[in-house]
Amino acid sequence: MVNNTSICWECGKKGEFKFVEIEETSEIKDEFITSLHRYYECPNCGELFAPFDDPDYNIRMDFDSYRIQKGFLNTNEIIEIRKKYSLSQRDFAEILGISYSTISSIENGSLHNQYQDSLFTMSSQPIAFYDLLQKRKNLLSDEKFAKVSEAVEHQIMEEEKIHKVWVAKVDKKISLLHDRQNERIRMLNMIKREQEHLSKKIYSKDIERSTTSGLIKTAFQPLFSK
Ligand SMILES: [Zn+2]
Repeated sequence: MVNNTSICWECGKKGEFKFVEIEETSEIKDEFITSLHRYYECPNCGELFAPFDDPDYNIRMDFDSYRIQKGFLNTNEIIEIRKKYSLSQRDFAEILGISYSTISSIENGSLHNQYQDSLFTMSSQPIAFYDLLQKRKNLLSDEKFAKVSEAVEHQIMEEEKIHKVWVAKVDKKISLLHDRQNERIRMLNMIKREQEHLSKKIYSKDIERSTTSGLIKTAFQPLFSK
């Protein structure tokens, strides 16, 4: 951000506007959202103005924070879902059963609700979306249906690849754990055998000792008793 020299709309004086960032809390729908807002401050009257080069910046920050707070998908994630299936906004709206204008305004940054977020989240899973697509087949032309089906199938296969890599990684980890576990068991058995061996040695020495002392006692019994 650079300092901006301009005429203030509030006091009418010319001056160099200072760029400031202020943490502010706003109420959006049912939530209180705190985010860092950007302003240009008039050096004469102190009036704050939204960024000249990006007037929607503060609202966008608030909406982003709102989506994070609610655990909602963000605008780009929603656009990505539609694009990975090669769908137009109109066709995506038809399949989901929401209006074209709703999709269009959500993709332009408007906030969506919980129900719509559930629809988008479900759609992000290719297998789930494939099922829905089959049920809504009659809403698309044959040509379009074939094209979208192909795109969704491609996504299913891509996710299957990722899934396989993931499973292989988990398998490797499990087999490593097994190896470690076996090594531990082997060591425990070794210690156990060692202990058994040692206690046998001590036991036989004890017997030996007690037998010896017994013999001595017996041999010298008359002496002891005197
Ligand atoms: Zn001013």
